[in-house]
Amino acid sequence: MKDDEHWRDKLTPDEYWVCREKGTERPFTGEYWNTEEDGVYHCRCCGEPLFLSDSKFDAGCGWPSFFKPASDDVIEETPDYSHGMSRTEITCKQCGCHLGHVFTDGPQPTGLRYCVNSLSVKLDKK
Ligand SMILES: [Zn+2]
Repeated sequence: MKDDEHWRDKLTPDEYWVCREKGTERPFTGEYWNTEEDGVYHCRCCGEPLFLSDSKFDAGCGWPSFFKPASDDVIEETPDYSHGMSRTEITCKQCGCHLGHVFTDGPQPTGLRYCVNSLSVKLDKK
């Protein structure tokens, strides 16, 4: 784990707020919510490959949404009871970067919707 100063230095104030302070960007404003380009979505903080464009789908929610991670061991899931809701927070397993939340209303084959802030990831286009 890197310290706070490292991330303040490396990230923009908006990125820092979302990634390290668990902020949420406003829907339909992020860089990737309606992106359909092929590539790999990496962690904005540490560069770990987290999601593939193959598993991205249009959930109509205004954030990039995926039905599965790039691999089984890159995402950490944690119960989140903030804001009076019961949700499951998702973070990058490698560096603890806040990504968003995972919901159970996604499409098959997983039935999951990984709802991610554009500011938490960076698309490496094919
Ligand atoms: Zn990371």
